[in-house]
Amino acid sequence: MSIPLRSSADLSPEEFTNLAVSAANLVASHLAGLGDAKARTAVPESLRSAFLSAPLPVSGTAPQDILNEFEKNIMPFPMGNTSPRFFAWVNSPPLPIAPVADMLATAMNPSVAGGDHAAVYVEHCVLNWLREMIGIRSWKSGKGVLCSGGSVANIIGLAAMRHKKIPNVREEGMSGASGMRIYTSTQGHSCLEKAVDILGFGRKALRKIAVDSQGRMDLAALHTALSEDRAAGLKPICIAASAGTVNAGAIDPLDQLSRLCQEQDLWFHIDGSYGAMAAIVPSVAPLLKAFEQADSIATDQHKWAYVGVECGAAFVRDEANLRSTFSLVPEYLRDDAAMAWFSEYSIQQTRGFRALKVWMSIKHLGLEGYRTLVERDIGLAAYLRKRLLERKDEFELLASGPLSIVCFLCRPQGMSLEDAARLTKRVVLEAIQPEGTFFLTTTEVGGLPCARACIVNFRTTEADIDALLDAIAREGKRLVV
Ligand SMILES: *Cc1c(COP(=O)(O)O)cnc(C)c1O
Repeated sequence: MSIPLRSSADLSPEEFTNLAVSAANLVASHLAGLGDAKARTAVPESLRSAFLSAPLPVSGTAPQDILNEFEKNIMPFPMGNTSPRFFAWVNSPPLPIAPVADMLATAMNPSVAGGDHAAVYVEHCVLNWLREMIGIRSWKSGKGVLCSGGSVANIIGLAAMRHKKIPNVREEGMSGASGMRIYTSTQGHSCLEKAVDILGFGRKALRKIAVDSQGRMDLAALHTALSEDRAAGLKPICIAASAGTVNAGAIDPLDQLSRLCQEQDLWFHIDGSYGAMAAIVPSVAPLLKAFEQADSIATDQHKWAYVGVECGAAFVRDEANLRSTFSLVPEYLRDDAAMAWFSEYSIQQTRGFRALKVWMSIKHLGLEGYRTLVERDIGLAAYLRKRLLERKDEFELLASGPLSIVCFLCRPQGMSLEDAARLTKRVVLEAIQPEGTFFLTTTEVGGLPCARACIVNFRTTEADIDALLDAIAREGKRLVV
């Protein structure tokens, strides 16, 4: 059997150009339609079952036909987060430059495990820029590493903590860990619990501290928990604070927590997955100043840096500690003159070129551009709060931190809070979500179910927010009668 000269897997430059132009046209038409399209259109039952039972293709299909199928069966049924009327969770759209960067990154296809090629330097470059943006350029050593998102960034930070707090953990495992305790607030993200679990502490090792009326970790409750645990023979080792909770965007009292950690020799970890980017906004920056004192910080660039899913970054103050948390290169073989490999500082060996989309996005917008976008989202949340207060015979404002999340009720005048909570849940789940023009979710504040709107979208306008409130008020009236 003779081997064909050029595999059918390859495309000629001309074929590739045609294909890429077709794909670019699809992206452009998606962008053009965002203003009018519904945030979400349900996947038809027939399509759902077609995907779930699709047989493995035995022979190939022409790329243009595959694009056509994408256009017909995938593109029309998005999650919705590229729409200006999507307010759920913390899911932003990408800057249009991000999918372009993705194409270029995959075309070069480096592994950014380390070595001496351009992608490695691009990652070092963006990590420096990100450090400057979140205000930790002053860390003397300090090391950052890109990863898939906030969850993994938290795991990396807490793994460094574990390595510091448990002697010989990499050789001996967790035998020395019994009784160790880590503290977060009741509003801390579930990924902290997952991290504590997979790092082998066991979920019981994470103690959740009550929050104040603003959703911030309550310092008095924390002090009580620390003394109780010490009295019971347990060993507090770490505080995992939140800089922007997902529920209402609360920022824990980082200054006081940082002092407490210093006094009591606790590792100070900050989950900044949502809020860290607000460090570039002058009105919020003072609340995040204690980043400089943190031992580790998790950030998430696929949220407020708009680089597209997936990208997060972990930062650890003590570079040598982070390296010995993950490296399998023995000390005596480490070459301090050469640049250490990223794979020595994190979980993956082969690592994608995520840095390119971060590099292109930061160059595209600049610090000023990013500041404008993040400030704009915070301003839109303030606008939403203002409208809720102005329409107080239709709505009740429940909670809103200094960032861009607002929790509220649809509350026709005279209705009890409990009835309004039940009504709001029905409006969101039975009317707004299935209809699809808007997409938002519910949460709980102080035990009351409520609507939650998170604005992390540079396309959202005041008009979108007014239209959202109109729709909720209208559906509320319809469901009451
Ligand atoms: C999104 C988020 C996470 C988890 O990050 P992923 O990117 O989803 O892995 C953790 N903490 C907070 C506060 C978040 O907003």
